[in-house]
Amino acid sequence: MHPPDRILMGPGPSDVHPRVLQSLGHPLIGHLDPDFTPLLDRVGEQLRTLFGTSNRVTFPVSGTGSAGMEATVVNLVEPGDDVVVGVNGVFGGRIAEVARRAGANVHTVEAPWGRIIDPQAFLEEVRKRRPAVAALVHAETSTGAHQPVAEIGEALRGEDTLLLLDCVTSLAGVEVAVDAWGVDAGYSGTQKCLSVPPGLSPVTFSDRAVAKVRGRASPVQSWYLDLTLLLGYLDAEGGRTYHHTAPVSMIYGLAEGLDLVLEEGVDARIARHAHLGGLLQDGLTQLGLPLLAQEGHRLPQLTTVGLPDGVDEAAWRARLLKEYGIEVGGGLGDFAGRAWRIGLMGHSCDERNVRLLLAALERLLD
Ligand code: PLP
Repeated sequence: MHPPDRILMGPGPSDVHPRVLQSLGHPLIGHLDPDFTPLLDRVGEQLRTLFGTSNRVTFPVSGTGSAGMEATVVNLVEPGDDVVVGVNGVFGGRIAEVARRAGANVHTVEAPWGRIIDPQAFLEEVRKRRPAVAALVHAETSTGAHQPVAEIGEALRGEDTLLLLDCVTSLAGVEVAVDAWGVDAGYSGTQKCLSVPPGLSPVTFSDRAVAKVRGRASPVQSWYLDLTLLLGYLDAEGGRTYHHTAPVSMIYGLAEGLDLVLEEGVDARIARHAHLGGLLQDGLTQLGLPLLAQEGHRLPQLTTVGLPDGVDEAAWRARLLKEYGIEVGGGLGDFAGRAWRIGLMGHSCDERNVRLLLAALERLLD
């Protein structure tokens, strides 16, 4: 196998630091080995720092970001529950679909692609429906919109509704403050701003959310993702009983990736993303290309940009890949065929990459 050398500036996966790649090759030990479980505990502790939470139940689900989505939704939702979901792109739509499949009556609050969900409209729907769960996507990777959460979390404090937040693209790229915002459950993915290969989905559940899962009238529809069973292994107090075989090498990779994040410092990492995202977005504007996400709510780590009329965007992406080794993403949904999604996530978020991409685009536009 000889994978080519790429610069990953799409919507994920992002480039991986050599230290993380090396860690994946460490000798394998058993997932019940007394030297492995402390590593799992350390990962949980580091994830708490990143999520901004003291939630005891914070761990990496085995599977990609969608597994974290499923894990949170299927544990918190019982058949017949009302669920309100903000939909302004692909991933809000995916949460709605997962909740429907879990038997929920789903009510969506929608916004045009590129715009945030209006907090007041979302709260109005929540007050009307009084749902078991209200869900939002913090960083909508299909549009580049950065959803404000604090105001919504504050307004829902003390209500029975559990607030669920998709942090797949936001974690370690922009501020995430689960406890301060009153978020009850959140999930992320390793392959975005954490810069670890895809394969794990860090999740966090508040005590209130765990109590809801434990008090369910019906068993969780998914055996694999049933939190009450998973805790038997994850929690030292649960006796570390076997549930499924933890993906040991991926946990090595995540542990190393989290070490790198914390060595840099969460605030410094967020500032790096903000600075370089701004540099990229200014550069694109100077090239005359329109930024498609709502002004004032643009993610630094994921920029959606429109291409000039008549451009075959797929052909241009193929040229970028062939001539510069740069991967960017095509548009999805409403943006398909007319936009790119440019990622500056984690290890890929580097000034050299920004300048190289802008220079390459200038040549393509010439
Ligand atoms: N949620 C968001 C916001 C995402 O960007 C993604 C993936 O891009 C997912 C969920 C699903 O994650 P995965 O593709 O790792 O399953």
